[in-house]
Amino acid sequence: MLKIGHEVVRPGRHRGDEPVTIPVPEELETVPGIPLNQREVDWYAREYPLETMNITERASRDWANAIRDTHIEMREIRKEHDKLNRPLVMAARLTGDQDPTVEPTGGDVSQDIKDKAKDLGFLEVGITYYDYRYTYQSKKDYVKFPHVICLAYEQDFEPTQTIPSIDAEIVHSSTYRTEGAAALELAAYINSIGYHAQIQSPTDNTGPYIPMFVEAGLGQLGACGYLLTPSEGSRCRLIMITTDANVSYDKPVDYGIHAFCQVCQVCVNRCPGRALMRDKIWWRGLEKNKLYFKRCRPIMARYLGCGICMKVCPIQKYGLKNVMEHYADTGQVLGKGTHDLEGYTIEGKGYFGPGELPVFDRGFFDMPQGDTEGWAFDNFKKQAAAAGGVISDELMENFRQEVARGLSQSRDDLGMMEEEDYI
Ligand code: SF4
Ligand code: SF4
Repeated sequence: MLKIGHEVVRPGRHRGDEPVTIPVPEELETVPGIPLNQREVDWYAREYPLETMNITERASRDWANAIRDTHIEMREIRKEHDKLNRPLVMAARLTGDQDPTVEPTGGDVSQDIKDKAKDLGFLEVGITYYDYRYTYQSKKDYVKFPHVICLAYEQDFEPTQTIPSIDAEIVHSSTYRTEGAAALELAAYINSIGYHAQIQSPTDNTGPYIPMFVEAGLGQLGACGYLLTPSEGSRCRLIMITTDANVSYDKPVDYGIHAFCQVCQVCVNRCPGRALMRDKIWWRGLEKNKLYFKRCRPIMARYLGCGICMKVCPIQKYGLKNVMEHYADTGQVLGKGTHDLEGYTIEGKGYFGPGELPVFDRGFFDMPQGDTEGWAFDNFKKQAAAAGGVISDELMENFRQEVARGLSQSRDDLGMMEEEDYI
């Protein structure tokens, strides 16, 4: 039995449930939230502001979407989701302009908002300040209010265990829609108690959410790159609401996850793309396991959105309390090495149990990089070099057309939804 360093007490999953106590063994204690260097976070935010990969990696986004759409069921799921989700995203974008319907009483409404969020089905809710350092360059004037309500909606257990699968893709999309509708209700509730509320929709997001969820005490960053929440691990979808309501802030928590991931490593070992890093590095002022995007996107594009790193995470499957109790009792990672936790089937490749990984052809991970016009220029240079530096009229015309296509593409999430064949 390991010595327990501290215990974390969290509210139950639903309103009225008993609180949940999570033991954190002393050897897993690091810092509340995530190790960070504030000066570096400030510096990167100022000198190298973040931008959405929908813009910076547009070329591979279009490439991956085209591959995914060759799978008939995946294409139908996407079209259905886009059709149903679009009104929710458009409604979310209007919420910031909605005036409150009454005068506020002036009291602290944090608990009222949290209770309402739980009633609407959110399993995790926490409040902190909106951290503008994590805002995308293209959205820097978008967020109107200083406080942020961080919300996590559970994704159904059973279909998630079948990842990668059509069932899992369906539940992944539908969870986004369910939480989108619930967030609209929560925003209307905040208006009804006297305050503004602006939904930051995951389809139209202003930046990475996880730093603010960690600051609000809703979990810690896993080696898989997902937020690991105490009640459902990575098996949830995130959404945020910024507000001017009179609220008090929650605090970051050390759940032991930062150190536990270095012991566990199940997602790192099981990733078919070898896209997850074993060791942590310092990146933009945070200490984290960094994902190799170039090894992840080609897998996601071809294998039903992949998500194996979510499926094989013991915290997703068994819950943080069970995982920590088991580790404290035995020094072992619950489920590690079992087919139940680690096994998965990849369409067209078969089943892979613990210790087994698929092999891909040479060139599998080649994909376009950067935005459309940047990728056009890279290709132009390569073809001109191959032709001994001769730039033919045809080469020039192809380049001109690709650059024109890139420049005509929308940089706005809603604008992207309007583009040809979006639905
Ligand atoms: S989605 Fe798949 S390929 Fe990407 S990191 Fe997770 S397991 Fe690896
Ligand atoms: S599988 Fe293990 S290493 Fe990966 S995120 Fe989950 S707990 Fe961390």
